[in-house]
Amino acid sequence: MKVLVTGGAGYIGSHACKALSKTGHTPITFDNLSTGWRDAVQFGPFFEGDLTDKSSIERAFAEHRPDAVLHFAALSRVDEAMAKPELYWRNNVLGSLNLFEAAVQHDCLDLVFSSTCATFGDQDNVILDENTPQHPINAYGASKQAVERMLQDFEATHGLRNVIFRYFNVAGADPDAEVGEFHRPETHLIPIVLDTVAGERDQVTIYGTDYPTPDGTCVRDYVHVSDLVDAHLLGLQWLKDGKGSRAFNLGTGSGFSVREVIHSANRVTNREVPTAIGDRRPGDAIKLVSGSKRAEDELKWTPQKSTMPQMIEDAWRWHQVADYRK
Ligand code: UDP
Repeated sequence: MKVLVTGGAGYIGSHACKALSKTGHTPITFDNLSTGWRDAVQFGPFFEGDLTDKSSIERAFAEHRPDAVLHFAALSRVDEAMAKPELYWRNNVLGSLNLFEAAVQHDCLDLVFSSTCATFGDQDNVILDENTPQHPINAYGASKQAVERMLQDFEATHGLRNVIFRYFNVAGADPDAEVGEFHRPETHLIPIVLDTVAGERDQVTIYGTDYPTPDGTCVRDYVHVSDLVDAHLLGLQWLKDGKGSRAFNLGTGSGFSVREVIHSANRVTNREVPTAIGDRRPGDAIKLVSGSKRAEDELKWTPQKSTMPQMIEDAWRWHQVADYRK
């Protein structure tokens, strides 16, 4: 199958391209390289384009005639979304609209969409499963929720079948260290901790220690990027099997606090990361943990590598050898 991968030069998209090519598919990366890396495109053709430019996504469909789409391309930083919500509405919502219209025009009607647990907002002590009402608290979550809603209409009217995955926190790297997580600026906890271990930063600032959690720091549910992309292959198969549109949360159901993540990184890397205590980061939810069993039950998805030490070990290996980080 030829699969158009928007955001294929990014962290999760590049891992998906590798998984697609390993299973006999051809990933066609469509990316504007705003947050992705040309060097991460190693597993199939590259089309440089921007989803907010409708003509470029139309050309990509005309040139490559894909059979399905994995739609990763998006802005995904809560801090940036709080400061510049317009970027999120334009890139994530308008970009997706252009993509969906082009997909329908080219009769490419199976699409997997990357959504987020940020669509749920801050619901303390609520188990976040697929039936939880979505109340996003920042423009990132709101933009993703809007695209989820748009997909309902595109399915009903134009037959655009879709699987929606709501990611919890994605971590780790390709176990062969061919691709990995790299953002500039880096805002994510585990890469920042590893940058600090590597001496590229002086310290990790913990954003808030007065949250109502056991150790006062925010709690997240971390999933290994390899497990996450496995779910995407299952999602594509689900659509090709004609099972219809469905939303799945992708998390493990286990929560780790910021302090627990740092502690685990200290153990894996055998160093002691210097920390400082900072203010809460605007837009952060206290606790986001998946209560979902739907992906396991229906997709038969079983996370294999999503333990905290394994995620940190794989991320650390990549961090040490990655050439496009340099
Ligand atoms: N965090 C932190 N210091 C950092 C980066 C992140 O304390 O330098 C915290 C952040 O407030 C959140 C958690 O780590 O509670 C995970 O943040 P990340 O940005 O990795 O992912 P998010 O949950 O925002 O998608």
